Amino acid sequence: MIHGEDERLPFADLRPGSDAAEIREAVERVLASGWFVLGPEVEAFEAEFAAAAGAKHAVGVASGTDAIALALRAAGVNPGDEVIVPAMTAAFTALAVVAAGATPVIADVDPRTLTLDGRACADAVTSRTRAIVPVHLYGQPADMMEIMAVADRHRLVVIEDCCQAHLATCNGLPVGTIGAAGAFSFYPTKNLAALGDGGAVMTSDGALADRVRLLRNGGQTHRNHHAVAGVNSRLDELQAAILRVRLPNLLPETALRRLHAAFYREALHGAVVPVAERDAGHVYHLFPVRSARREALQAHLTRAGIETLIHYPVPLHKQPAFANLAPRDCPVAAQAADELLSLPLHPRLHARQAARVADAIQTFEKGSIDA
Ligand SMILES: *Cc1c(COP(=O)(O)O)cnc(C)c1O
Repeated sequence: MIHGEDERLPFADLRPGSDAAEIREAVERVLASGWFVLGPEVEAFEAEFAAAAGAKHAVGVASGTDAIALALRAAGVNPGDEVIVPAMTAAFTALAVVAAGATPVIADVDPRTLTLDGRACADAVTSRTRAIVPVHLYGQPADMMEIMAVADRHRLVVIEDCCQAHLATCNGLPVGTIGAAGAFSFYPTKNLAALGDGGAVMTSDGALADRVRLLRNGGQTHRNHHAVAGVNSRLDELQAAILRVRLPNLLPETALRRLHAAFYREALHGAVVPVAERDAGHVYHLFPVRSARREALQAHLTRAGIETLIHYPVPLHKQPAFANLAPRDCPVAAQAADELLSLPLHPRLHARQAARVADAIQTFEKGSIDA
């Protein structure tokens, strides 16, 4: 038995690591300032985050879900409008459409990349369609060339769901700068993580950015004067200060994610099928593989002390929450939902841990287990 084989290998470890001391300093700085919601840390983070992707504006909000909803509203999506979303994503993508008062229309995904399929998207367009929300799933950009072509043809707004894809690029262009706006989440598991909820809308459209700023703060033009019915969705100073500590580490951490992903692809060859990499701008938020024997594989890995998760076990068209929409069948997403298994992959994973995961999978696939 290899040394440390019984050691538990968690899917992720969200406790601050080498950045802990800097985070404490940032928190102390905010505590001493006595200013906690929308202030100088939020403004500085917004500028730094926009600059990191070469966008003109970033507007901090309370979550990724709110970022999508407010970007849609700011882009002119109204109640009754239809918004196309992919069937394989976090349900929050579609919940954000509902929060904006619009109706999600669920379309199937590409069988290789599991991002929104251009043809399925085009087929889902009706006279009421107003927008498309492609998802850069698992850190991989959706095929934006194809999606922008559909959007241009039908004069639709594109809001990119970048919640899993901070600083990813699509054909060299940073995600969040291709459509009218990009929506980001800083939930603690994301590539750029706060220690609580947080989100941002990125855009180079100054008017759209201004409308998000208005909407996130109750629609107030100035204190106690509400021009529109906005919401309370503000980024707080503590989270912004923490995100400012972490932003400079994002590119080196992304490089580590890509190294682990390359290792897995090589080491798992012939055993399980990783979701295809279509664009080298992939930032590997997750590393899902597909197996026809997913439940047994997951059980085998659990016995070996390796924690895995499923992203996502229920495609949107099968979620009871959206049954009222009578969504059309999405067979590609449905089959993927039965086969996907996400392996541990994060910047703090050691090469020997990744090797242990790969060995355990190879052992399972060779059928040489005696559980
Ligand atoms: C995390 C996530 C969201 C929602 O972000 P929150 O900050 O949790 O609201 C939306 N879409 C995708 C693809 C996500 O991964």
